[in-house]
Amino acid sequence: MNICFVGAGYVGLTSAVVFAELGNKVWLVDIDKEKIDLINNGKAPFYEPGLGELIKKHANSGNLTATTKLEQGVQNSKIIFIAVGTPIGKTGKADLSQVEAVVEEIGQCLNKEYKLVVIKSTVPPGTTKKMGEKLRKLNPKINFDVAFCPEFLRPGKAIEDSLNPDRVVIGTNNDQVFAILKDLYQPMKTKIIRTSIESAEIIKYAANSYLALRIGFIDQIALLAEEAKADILEIVEGIGSDKRIGSHYWYPGIGYGGYCFPKDVLALSSVFKNHGLADNLFAKLADLNRKRPELYVNKLEESLGGLKGKSIGVLGLTAKPGTDDMRGSQAVYFIQLLTAEGAEVRAYDPLGMEKAKKILENVEFCQTPEKVAENASALCLLCEWEEFESLDWEKVKEMMDGDLVFDGKRMFDPNAIERAGLRYFGVGV
Ligand code: NAD
Repeated sequence: MNICFVGAGYVGLTSAVVFAELGNKVWLVDIDKEKIDLINNGKAPFYEPGLGELIKKHANSGNLTATTKLEQGVQNSKIIFIAVGTPIGKTGKADLSQVEAVVEEIGQCLNKEYKLVVIKSTVPPGTTKKMGEKLRKLNPKINFDVAFCPEFLRPGKAIEDSLNPDRVVIGTNNDQVFAILKDLYQPMKTKIIRTSIESAEIIKYAANSYLALRIGFIDQIALLAEEAKADILEIVEGIGSDKRIGSHYWYPGIGYGGYCFPKDVLALSSVFKNHGLADNLFAKLADLNRKRPELYVNKLEESLGGLKGKSIGVLGLTAKPGTDDMRGSQAVYFIQLLTAEGAEVRAYDPLGMEKAKKILENVEFCQTPEKVAENASALCLLCEWEEFESLDWEKVKEMMDGDLVFDGKRMFDPNAIERAGLRYFGVGV
C-alpha cells in the first residue's frame, strides 16, 4: 500500500520503516528539515536498536521517502497516519496543537480522491471525531474517513514492538475503513481488535496509566517496606506468584518517567476532571510519582549529613535503558535537586550524555562508570543499564571518599556492596 506518516519521531519514524520493511511504499513527513535530511541519507536522528539499519535499507530500496512537504506525502498515499507529539499543556491537559496544525494542513491538500486519515498520536476521547469535523469544515467536498489506531511501542524496543505487537487496536465504526486497516496490519500476524473510535482512544490512556499505576503501587509498598524494615523484592516475589497479579512489570524505584507515562497519566486525570471527576486515582498517582526523586534526595541528604559541597556520582541518566531519550527522565529531576542543594554531581550514561549535556547544568560528565566514583561521598544508580551490573565494588570503594551506594532501581546485590566495605541503601529495603 501507499501510506504516509506525518511526524518522524519515535512513533512515526519507527512505524514508517517497519511498514516499509513489510513491503509498503511509505512517505514520511516532518517539519524538521535536519531530521528529514538525515533519514534520506540513511541515518537515524535518535538511537533505537535496529532503526539505523532499517532506515539505510529502505532509503536505498525506495520504499521509504522522507520529505518536509506534506502535500507530497498526502497525494501519493491512500492512508495518512498522524504521529506528531501531544505533549502536556500548562494545565495538565494534552496539548493538541501539533495534531490540529497537521489536520489543517491535510485539509488544504486533499482533493476528490479518497483518503483515510488515521490518528496514531495519543489523544483524549472525542479528539479523532473532532478532527474529522474540522477536516469536513475546511473542505466540504473531500472524500475521506478518520480512524484512531493507538501505538503501544516501547522506546528501546520500538522496532521489535512494531514488527511483533501484542495486539493492534483499530478504532472505527466503518466496515470499509476496518477492512483497509486490517489489510495493512495483517502481515504482523497478531490479534486485531476492532473497537469504536472513543474506546480506542481510551485504551491507549488506560494501558499506559495501568502500567504507571503498577509502578506507583509498588513504589508505595516500597515506602512501607523501608519503614517496616522489610524488603520490596521479597514482597514482589510473594505477591507476584499469585496468578491473578503476575510476577511481571514490578519496578520499584525513583518513580516512573519517560515521555509517555507522566504525560498520559496527567492527561487522563484531566479528562476525568473535564467530566466533573477531579478526585480521581490518576491525579493522586501523578502527584505521588512526582515526589519520588525528592523523597530519596532528602533521604540521601539525611544519610550524608547534608549535600552542600558533597561529590555525588550518578550512574544512568536516560528515561530507561536501551535509549538515548531523556524526555521525562526521573534521573534528570533527581540530579537537578542534588545540584540545587549544592552537591557536585559527576555522571555517566552509556547513550544519553550528549543529550544530557544540553539539559543539565553544573554536572561533570565522565567517560566510564568507575570514573564517577572518584572522590564521591555517595554513588547513585538512577537508570538500570546492564553494563552497571559488572561494576567492580572493590575498585569503587578504593576510588570513593565516602561509602554510600544508593540503588534507585534495585539492580545491585547488596551483599557484594557490603562485602567491599560500602553501605547499601536501596529503594524498598
Ligand atoms: P516526537 O516528539 O518524537 O515526534 C513528533 C514529530 O512530529 C517531531 O519530529 C516533530 O518535528 C514532528 N512534527 C510536529 N509538528 C509537525 C507538523 N506540523 N508536520 C509534520 N511534522 C510535525 O513524538 P513521539 O514520541 O513519536 O510521539 C508521537 C505521539 O505518539 C505522541 O502522541 C505520543 O504520546 C504517542 N506515543 C509515543 C510513544 C513513545 O514511546 N514515544 C509510544 C506510543 C505512543
